[in-house]
Amino acid sequence: MSDSKIINVTRASLPPLSEYEELLQHIWDTAWLTNMGEYHETLRAKLQDYLKVGSVQLFVNGHSALEFLLQAMDLHGEVITTPFSFASTTHAIVRNGLTPVFCDINMRDYTIDVDQLESLITERTSAIVPVHVYGNICDVHRIQKIADRHHLKVIYDAAHTFGEELDGQGVGTFGDASMFSFHATKVFNSIEGGAVTTGKPDPALMEKLYKLKNFGILGQEEVASVGGNGKMNEFAAAMGLCNLRHVDEYIAKRKLVFERYRAHLADVPGITFPEIPSNVKSNYAYMPVRFHDYTYTRDEIFDRLKAENIRARKYFYPCINAYSCYQDHYDVKDTPHALLVSQEILTLPMYPDLALEDVDRICSIILG
Ligand SMILES: *Cc1c(COP(=O)(O)O)cnc(C)c1O
Repeated sequence: MSDSKIINVTRASLPPLSEYEELLQHIWDTAWLTNMGEYHETLRAKLQDYLKVGSVQLFVNGHSALEFLLQAMDLHGEVITTPFSFASTTHAIVRNGLTPVFCDINMRDYTIDVDQLESLITERTSAIVPVHVYGNICDVHRIQKIADRHHLKVIYDAAHTFGEELDGQGVGTFGDASMFSFHATKVFNSIEGGAVTTGKPDPALMEKLYKLKNFGILGQEEVASVGGNGKMNEFAAAMGLCNLRHVDEYIAKRKLVFERYRAHLADVPGITFPEIPSNVKSNYAYMPVRFHDYTYTRDEIFDRLKAENIRARKYFYPCINAYSCYQDHYDVKDTPHALLVSQEILTLPMYPDLALEDVDRICSIILG
């Protein structure tokens, strides 16, 4: 094994090329490239089964799914979310003309701090957008109780939780709706892609989303509303269909990688990572490791790995409320847990084909 080989934090999962080629043949035969084609419809139905949800609407990517979903919910005023996420979560709120209010995260699994949540609700609050960050499932039952008490919508950013279950229930069933991302770097990809799911079948929401993603067009002579364009094309849907056949195998391989990391790092003072609760079926999407009072700082570990061509990521750093586009309106010190974790966390390489010997090497650099 050459030391000069570059190991990135992730590597896209691809099906055998022959499987994709087989589906491409049908696209060439029919010349139907997009606009809710056969693969789009098949993928939608298969995902509804796989994710154990009541309804699914597909989108060109996860971000547009979330942006259209927030629009479909007819929200106003303030939306509570966390600053410890990918830019997309807060951007989707702001791009809908809504005001994000940042709740801190808990130090156990970095999801929204439910103890703080209720204190941030005002008469202007209309929704909560929690993030199942790294695939760690939020305290969905307590969040729902708080939301019900104040008549708020709950919309999950479930981009990291493809295929996860809590007590046997699909993670995309919680709240009013959830957004999934099928971006190349996610556990399940359709090159680019995304979806909105609901627990119970919700035909009214699905129709609203359909109109939003297809220019408001309902028929050849009927344009009912001012929609945009968020349609998933047939090449993306075909990739999704191929990857869906293999996703259980991808997750099983990720689990082996996780367990190898765990074997090296679990009992090291100064190193922590969230354990997977026994009632959760995990997808092992990320390997976030926090260095607190450790021999080396997070940045030192990052540099030591980089010197060996191992590209870990400071994910998520900086916090969203410290971005230059938001810093004038927010103070990152108002969310001290998120600030601390953003400075101490490093996501280590994690993908199905990561060799276990490479995990050993990564850990020996960390422990060295
Ligand atoms: C990837 C991601 C998104 C956006 O999904 P895209 O498919 O890339 O548009 C949103 N939220 C989180 C937390 C993500 O990781």
